[in-house]
Amino acid sequence: MARCPRCGEGKLYVGLLDVADKCSVCSLPLKKHEQGDGPAFFCICIIGSFTGILATITEVMFQPPFWLHAVIWLPLVIVSSLFGIRATKAALITMQYRFRPEDFS
Ligand SMILES: [Zn+2]
Repeated sequence: MARCPRCGEGKLYVGLLDVADKCSVCSLPLKKHEQGDGPAFFCICIIGSFTGILATITEVMFQPPFWLHAVIWLPLVIVSSLFGIRATKAALITMQYRFRPEDFS
């Protein structure tokens, strides 16, 4: 995961969420992708729904104090959002390369 969609060898990211300018192996210009808010939208829908349902179930079953909700759900949402955006961004770049390869030329 998080590899170049053309060669599968070069790294897709420079840092945690920054897409590399080009693939270090095949020189595919990776910065030409067009995602907009796609990765964030998918993460908000998936992680928000998942966390909301779990928090509701926890509240109904155990009625924990508010601070315990914050201790449980905030780190979970932050970590899962970072890795979720990374994964969905890589998936969208790969899909764009597969279905609209002319965008990368
Ligand atoms: Zn490559």
